[in-house]
Amino acid sequence: MCYAIPGKIIEIKKNVAVLDYFGEKRNVLLDQDVKVGDYAYAQGGVLINVIEKAEAERVLIFWKEKFFELKEIDEKTSKVQEINASTKVLEILEKVNLSKELTKEDMMFLLKVEDSRELKLIYETANNVRQKEHDNACCVHGIIEFSNYCKNDCSYCGIRKSRNIQRYRMSVKEIVEVAKKAVSLGFKALVLQSGEDYWYDEEKLIEIVKKIRKLNVLIFLSIGVREKRIYEKLYQAGARGVLLRFETSDRELFERERPKTNFNKRISLIRDLKEMKYIIATGFLVGIGESEENIVNNILLTKELEPDMYSFGPFIPSGGSSKVEKDLIFKIIALSRFIDKKSKILVTSALETLDSNARKEGLMAGANSLMLNVTPKKYKELYNLYPGRKDEEVIKAVDETVDLLYSIGRAPTDLGI
Ligand code: SAH
Ligand code: SF4
Repeated sequence: MCYAIPGKIIEIKKNVAVLDYFGEKRNVLLDQDVKVGDYAYAQGGVLINVIEKAEAERVLIFWKEKFFELKEIDEKTSKVQEINASTKVLEILEKVNLSKELTKEDMMFLLKVEDSRELKLIYETANNVRQKEHDNACCVHGIIEFSNYCKNDCSYCGIRKSRNIQRYRMSVKEIVEVAKKAVSLGFKALVLQSGEDYWYDEEKLIEIVKKIRKLNVLIFLSIGVREKRIYEKLYQAGARGVLLRFETSDRELFERERPKTNFNKRISLIRDLKEMKYIIATGFLVGIGESEENIVNNILLTKELEPDMYSFGPFIPSGGSSKVEKDLIFKIIALSRFIDKKSKILVTSALETLDSNARKEGLMAGANSLMLNVTPKKYKELYNLYPGRKDEEVIKAVDETVDLLYSIGRAPTDLGI
């Protein structure tokens, strides 16, 4: 099994290489020496590593048939079939098809839609846009939750400081071992996530990043707010992505739910990280007391931050079940797809806790990225940001994911920008 298809380098322009995948061309950023004719893996628009020609050919033989077979399934399943909707919904969707900008009012209108046929049409349209813009690639990142210590006390979070829970920290060696295992399962991109845990100082974080980068994998950091200087050093050490949600665009709500943290500081860090050339994944929580207008503002702020990937999901309370309807999340996925056609949109694991079918439905409503948890079981049980998280073996989860993706014609790969 494989999470990436090697491409052949057919052109090099300064720090960008053009990779060819069975006739499809993609640009990827370069930060190493390569030459035309090399075969390489890319993730998130970054060239990860060059591989031997013999190995590339072996993988490509498997993929060649599958590649076109999956594309065909995706093309078929992403056609718009529903035709029944009110004039207003049809008008807004026509704007989407003509690539006209949606107004805030249009977005609010779609967010309020409840009729099942109209919802079907909205999701199908979003899936169709996804197919046209991104083809059938669906990147699958692995996530390693390496510490549940946190200095913050965000009211919504199951591992916040004031909660009396069993805490753990993985050693540098353990983290690297888990990463190795994930790479051996085929992952080409890993997210390293933790509470804001300053026990991992600059030195430890650099060591972790350097060691994992050697495994030829794209590294995303999800460690909360740290000094800009540290993020710069981590970029130099080989990290290329950051997952940092702004959580809500409503300052008052932010400051109420995230005591002693600062909205402006978080937003300017996201902007700084973008300037440092990090690949950015950002977004917000749904269901923490925001209004519908807030949700639209959240989508618009995500767009303004120009992320590579949108990451938003329902708030799942520690004590009970979520009040967020899964259709609300699907509508947000579709709206995000409409206003930012080029971006990747993640189906988050919090969404998957709402319903066992939510992953597939999210992918059919415009999303095109997934994250699988590769944290060892003994720690995963303690990293309860929210309850109801799936507790399955990594290998089983990988198999199920690949089966699901194949069934809807998606290739578990990321062909770059
Ligand atoms: N400490 C880091 C990373 C870990 S938290 C940070 O805060 O950025 C990762 C994400 O989990 C947060 O961005 C938040 O949106 C989400 N999260 C926290 N508690 C949650 C809950 N109860 N339900 C759903 N998502 C939650
Ligand atoms: Fe800590 Fe992140 Fe949870 Fe806030 S959301 S308490 S920063 S782990």
